[in-house]
Amino acid sequence: MRVGIGYDIHPFKEGRPLVLGGVRIPHTHGLDGHSDADVLTHAVCDALLSAMGEGDVGRYYPSSDPACANMDSLEMLKDVRARLAERGFGLVNLGTVIVAQAPRLGHVVAAMSQRLAGVLQVEASLINVTVKSHDRIGALGREEGIAAQAVCLIA
Ligand SMILES: [Zn+2]
Repeated sequence: MRVGIGYDIHPFKEGRPLVLGGVRIPHTHGLDGHSDADVLTHAVCDALLSAMGEGDVGRYYPSSDPACANMDSLEMLKDVRARLAERGFGLVNLGTVIVAQAPRLGHVVAAMSQRLAGVLQVEASLINVTVKSHDRIGALGREEGIAAQAVCLIA
């Protein structure tokens, strides 16, 4: 059994799509980043890589690589899942927290779990997505961006 942790944060930018856990969410702003800036999927990739002791997603998809521009982050997760399978690991469970003052995300948590579970080829019940506001505190509370955390257990 091995535990892994991942964290990520991206700033909001006008004119970008908002994608969280592979689910496109209508909002006035999207997240800025080199890829599609899917902060939840990046945290999940990092948690799984952390559990395997294989660094983080930036090692495999550097922001300096033009091939990664606007990349679908679920493709990164597919690669991470292949590494997991190669090393003979399976996912026991995955817990995630999205910290977003806006938009409200409660109605899409099930869709996000299902999307991530589909890519990881596990049951959606093994993946929990929690959403929290930031109680208007600090940069996240001022709606300057969205952060995500993920903790996983693999065996
Ligand atoms: Zn990221």
